[in-house]
Amino acid sequence: MSLVAGAVSELQDLLGAQFQVNQAHLKAYYQNATEFQPKEVLGVAKPNSPEQVRQILEVCSRQSLKVYTFSTGMNWGLGSKIPTEGQCVLLDMAGLKQIRAVSEEYRYAIIEAGVTQKELSDYLEAKGYNLILPVTGSSPHSSILGNSLERGTTFLTHRAQDLRNLEVILPDGQLVRTGFWETANGEGGLGDELHYSYGNGPDVKGLFVQSNLGVVTAGVIELLPKPETIKLFWASVKEAQLPAFLDRCKQLYRMGGMRNIMHVGNEKRMKITGKGISSDSVWVAMTALQGPKGLVEWQESALTTYLSGLVSTMRFVSSADDLSEEPVLARMMDLHKGKPTTIFLQAMYKSEDSAGHNVDYDIDRGDVGMLCCLPAFPMDGARILKAVEVANAIAEEHGFLLATTINPVNDLYAESVINLYFNRSSEADIAKAHHCNSLIHKKLADLGYKFYRLDVKEMTHGYHNPMSISVPKLLKGVLDPEARLAAGKYGV
Ligand SMILES: Cc1cc2nc3c(=O)[nH]c(=O)nc-3n(C[C@H](O)[C@H](O)[C@H](O)COP(=O)(O)OP(=O)(O)OC[C@H]3O[C@@H](n4cnc5c(N)ncnc54)[C@H](O)[C@@H]3O)c2cc1C
Repeated sequence: MSLVAGAVSELQDLLGAQFQVNQAHLKAYYQNATEFQPKEVLGVAKPNSPEQVRQILEVCSRQSLKVYTFSTGMNWGLGSKIPTEGQCVLLDMAGLKQIRAVSEEYRYAIIEAGVTQKELSDYLEAKGYNLILPVTGSSPHSSILGNSLERGTTFLTHRAQDLRNLEVILPDGQLVRTGFWETANGEGGLGDELHYSYGNGPDVKGLFVQSNLGVVTAGVIELLPKPETIKLFWASVKEAQLPAFLDRCKQLYRMGGMRNIMHVGNEKRMKITGKGISSDSVWVAMTALQGPKGLVEWQESALTTYLSGLVSTMRFVSSADDLSEEPVLARMMDLHKGKPTTIFLQAMYKSEDSAGHNVDYDIDRGDVGMLCCLPAFPMDGARILKAVEVANAIAEEHGFLLATTINPVNDLYAESVINLYFNRSSEADIAKAHHCNSLIHKKLADLGYKFYRLDVKEMTHGYHNPMSISVPKLLKGVLDPEARLAAGKYGV
């Protein structure tokens, strides 16, 4: 029996049907909306407890098997479930489903890796907690922890900042918890240790984000208090006014007029509105004003004063308004109240005039391909528009129209999502899209722009800062000297 065959049979003994090697079964794991060439995997292990994860890592360590972990694997646009290296075991954490505890007092939930946005959102509602989960525009069935570990962004907050503590199994099978989280059962003891994320000494949590140093089994995720008042700001902005608009938003963040993330989408992105794409490009901006009534009223008047000269239309929609005739606004209100929706997944198909989606909007199985370029812009309107124009020009040369959002987070930076959609059934279209996306990355990098997330392919193109990744590289040599976990991820 070969080394690999021995390891495979050991995993089969350990997991039974939760370890699959059948290539027909593995096909679903190879499908990826980015159309990256799949890398051959040896099998898929589906643990359902941290203890099983530990046992799997122990076998893989003993047998020198490589491992690639994901939570629900909807890393769409960045490679889905495609590992950084082939000939590995995929560790599918979707079966770790426990919501271990919720604290209303200290605004957190302790969840395992496979808990989805919908599951926690529904749980909070069913139990009547006075808390909301900030949610992303991705699938209701996507995980909270996988998204946080990629440093994702919700409609209200930055997930990396919502992550208070992590429970991690290191490559040698050792279980560690970060900060002050040390209770033996991992349920958060008296609640007196999870109100403060850092612990003392170095803040270890960050080492496991966009990282390959361990497998995260659970985390403490910050929740928001249900606000007394919510108002949705919804405006349209002509592209010529976009730089001035963004600069005013920077001022508004600085003075406290806005606190949540804003989403500003171009017409291709905002196909949720169902309107056509015009030649005089118009962007749609939205953010939620939340808090006590008096604060929201003051914020509304600040936004009106600062932005009215720069927008074509502007509305403030209250959660008390009847939105039954305006389903798009109703879904946007839901998102900002912590209820995930498929509206942005639907928009992707709409903007490509495709009916080829499936019930759950699992885009890995749909007919529209998708690639991403994700720069973190300094909050400077002119510099942001310059990048948008550079990306648009490259896309146009290749015959694509980009779906772009600029998401100001605060007065310092805006994250951007530049999506390129393509026809998955055309080899020529796929090759053109890949070339175009790489060129956009290269051109923006040459101009000094930086990327906050990268796909499994662009990750290998050296966009990281060698001085910064020298630390995780040193740690990798100690914790995982054979580089068995996700080798090469983010350059480590
Ligand atoms: C229409 C549309 C809208 C979207 N909107 C958003 C949005 O608003 N915000 C946003 O951030 N993204 C968005 N996305 C992108 C993506 O779908 C989400 O980021 C999604 O949450 C990622 O999938 P996941 O939660 O299943 O993460 P996974 O795919 O499970 O994880 C992502 C990566 O994190 C690492 N990882 C995951 N779990 C573990 C673990 N347990 N231990 C160690 N490492 C791990 C792995 O490297 C993995 O590849 C959108 C995509 C589409 C198509």
